[in-house]
Amino acid sequence: MKDQLKSILPLSVKRWLFNRAITKQQEEWKAFAALNPGDTYHCNFCGHTSGAFLTDGEKHEVLEKYQILSGGLRKNSRCPNCGSKDRDRLIRFFIERKTNLTTSSLSLLHFAPEPSLKSWFKTLPFKQYINVDLNPLAADEVMDITKITLPDDSQDVIICNHVLEHIPDDALAMRELHRVLKPNGWAILQVPISLTLKDTYENWDITSPSDKEIHFGQCDHVRIYGQDYISRLQKEGFQVEQIDPAAFLSQEEIEAYGLLPEEVIYYCKKLS
Ligand SMILES: [Zn+2]
Repeated sequence: MKDQLKSILPLSVKRWLFNRAITKQQEEWKAFAALNPGDTYHCNFCGHTSGAFLTDGEKHEVLEKYQILSGGLRKNSRCPNCGSKDRDRLIRFFIERKTNLTTSSLSLLHFAPEPSLKSWFKTLPFKQYINVDLNPLAADEVMDITKITLPDDSQDVIICNHVLEHIPDDALAMRELHRVLKPNGWAILQVPISLTLKDTYENWDITSPSDKEIHFGQCDHVRIYGQDYISRLQKEGFQVEQIDPAAFLSQEEIEAYGLLPEEVIYYCKKLS
């Protein structure tokens, strides 16, 4: 009932409620930071150091059963000063150390923009930066990943993290991402992924949010990706390289920035 009421509110009221919730959350983060001084953990977005970072995600039986990486409960994940998550910090390191995104004038299409990455990208000299989401409160523009309203071969880079596990027709979304990428363009396409499942788990009889939570570990997920995630991307045209954090970070950095050592980057290229 509460959700039904929320859905009919005008966008301006939704935005006010959204901003009020963020302000409240930031006050809680600052209280946590005050209680956890120290320099065990570091943030590469805001430079904050802390004795602990905030725990992020939720504990679910299915996430533990299938050893879902970058999903579920993660200790020392969120910076209590700026709110960056472990995976945001990993992506920033990767971009800075392994790509030309910060030094070249490129066009970037960013789906479901993480607030920390979006704020950082807005300081960089892109030729064009488009950030989009289905939810008008979550990005500057509304766009459906299965119907991208951009021309073929138009984007140098796409960043789309933790989106595909929400999309029923993920093959169509992958084809759309591939279509709008320029030849030789690249994308970072992260998803929560099982370390034990060989094949992706989908079950289209599971439709209610409560059943999705039981089966997929989150009320709005429609699958659990297995190790065939790479072949699913390849099937839609991407050349996929899996890049280990150890390829661009020291063990000390992985620990100090609260990163997951097993969280590989899915670096996907469109061949010319
Ligand atoms: Zn921070």
